[in-house]
This record gives sequence, structure tokens and C-alpha cells, in this order.
Amino acid sequence: MKNKGILIVISGPSGAGKGTVCKQLLDNNTYWLSVSATTRTSRTGEEEGKSYYFLTKEEFNTKIEQGDFLEYAENYGNMYGTPRSKVMEKLDEGQVVILEIDIQGALKVKESFPDGIFIFLLPPSMEELKHRIINRASETPESLMTRFKSAYKEINYISKYNYAVINDTVDSAVAKVESIITAENCRVDRMKEKILDSKEGLIHEQLYD
Ligand code: 5GP
Repeated sequence: MKNKGILIVISGPSGAGKGTVCKQLLDNNTYWLSVSATTRTSRTGEEEGKSYYFLTKEEFNTKIEQGDFLEYAENYGNMYGTPRSKVMEKLDEGQVVILEIDIQGALKVKESFPDGIFIFLLPPSMEELKHRIINRASETPESLMTRFKSAYKEINYISKYNYAVINDTVDSAVAKVESIITAENCRVDRMKEKILDSKEGLIHEQLYD
């Protein structure tokens, strides 16, 4: 049985601008964004339950054992995971559910949600990616290098995704993601279920036959 909602996974290398794009996407639309759990310490301005659920390593491990995560991955020494139950609940309600996660996590989600929509967010150039990573005040020189090297490797996974969006300006990247979601909502297989639900005469019969 297919979920009524649409699962949209937005991922890409560190510095591609996933956070900024998702924030504006959520400001413009009534999509539901999954809040991840992490073992990393909170940065200035981050709020518990809004930016992340900040957990200890022990708490995180207990949740792994209980099967509470849809996927989890280690990222630069910290654990990150997507809480399963909320995502399933929102999909059952028919909502557009957004996951903003890294590439390892996206590939794991694809195993259980092959019908999800996987969007790879790209920086306009590797030079720009480097600037963006360097401009993050929270990074040490070592972690900058690690993030930059893994970004290079991660771009190879783009072929596993359905869509690629270049984040040259936030407005245009957000507009492209919105267009993808609109198009996905109009797909015959999704519309068919809605039309069958509403049992509307001719259109219903034509699609049904
Ligand atoms: P940051 O520490 O900068 O907030 O996030 C580091 C990386 O972890 C980013 O690429 C972010 O997208 C990713 N991330 C955040 N939440 C999750 C999650 O639930 N699962 C996975 N696999 N990655 C996540």
C-alpha cells in the first residue's frame, strides 16, 4: 500500500546550502520538515526540537536499538538520525514530507522508500562550495578539509537521485524544488488514487479502465 503523502529527500554535500533552501521552502509552503536527532552539541541560535533533538550518545544508541530511526548515519564524528514514527504519521496524513539529510542517509531511505523523490542539491561550483564551507565559523581547519574532501567524493552519487538542483541563488533553487513537487503531485499514478477516492464520473472511469 502506497503512502498518501510524498516523501521528498533533499540532500547534497555539506555547503550546498540544504539548510537555507529548506528554510525558505518551509517559509513559502505548508510542507512538513522532519526534525532529526543528533549527538552533536548545539550551535548558537539552534533550538531543541526545532533545529534538532539533541541527544547523548547513550540516548541515541537506545533509539537505534528500539528501531526508532528511519535511517541514521555518522557524520564527522557525530550521529544523525531521522525519527521514523512522525515521518510515517505525516505521510499517512497525505502531507509533503521533507527530509534534509546527508547522502548516506538518503541512500538508506531509498531502500525503504523507492517511490520517494530524491533531490540532489549542488553548489554552483566547487570554488563556491569551498567558500561556503570556509565561511562557516563553526569549523576547525581540519574539519573544513574533511568536509571539502568528502563533498568531492559525494558528488559521484548524484546518479542515484531523481533530480539535480543547482543552488546558485536560494530563490531559484527553491522555485525549482517547488516545481518538482508540483509536477510530482500531478503524476498520473498519484492523481489516479485521488480521482479514484473522489469517484468523479467520466475521468474516474477513463483512468480506471
Ligand atoms: P550539521 O552538523 O551541519 O547540522 O549537519 C551535518 C550533516 O548531517 C548535513 O549534511 C546534514 O544534512 C546531515 N544530517 C542532518 N540530519 C540528518 C539525519 O537525520 N540523517 C542523516 N543521515 N544526515 C543528517
